[in-house]
Amino acid sequence: MNIALIAHDKKKDDIIRFSTAYKQIFSKHTLFATGTTGKKIMDATGLQVHRFQSGPYGGDQEIGALIAKNEMDLIIFLRDPLTAQPHEPDVSALLRLCDVYSVPLATNLGTAEVLIRGLEKGDLDWRKVARGEKKE
Ligand code: PGA
Repeated sequence: MNIALIAHDKKKDDIIRFSTAYKQIFSKHTLFATGTTGKKIMDATGLQVHRFQSGPYGGDQEIGALIAKNEMDLIIFLRDPLTAQPHEPDVSALLRLCDVYSVPLATNLGTAEVLIRGLEKGDLDWRKVARGEKKE
């Protein structure tokens, strides 16, 4: 599965703890991330992560482009709900595309836990079929 990981600055520690805790599961999949998030995850866990631009410099849009090609299977996007983001339009666009393509999306650690455990159990295997489907 292709998994994208994004965390706003105040959520970076959370995504590091999360990716460390679930390293064994993540290591079986292909990981993508925005620039800084990806670097921190790689440094902390040794996992291989394909890094895009930093979020405010277009990283969210690059991940959005893969969602628009229906190539992303799971998005974990730990948003900071208490801080204004300069790239808020990019954030909204990414979340919207997840809904367009029915891509499982976690925006907080509680949902991320459920999705990653579901991923391990095979609950997301339907994505392998959905990935081949084209939108109009
Ligand atoms: P970053 O981007 O991982 O490069 O910090 C995340 C974001 O703010 O969208």
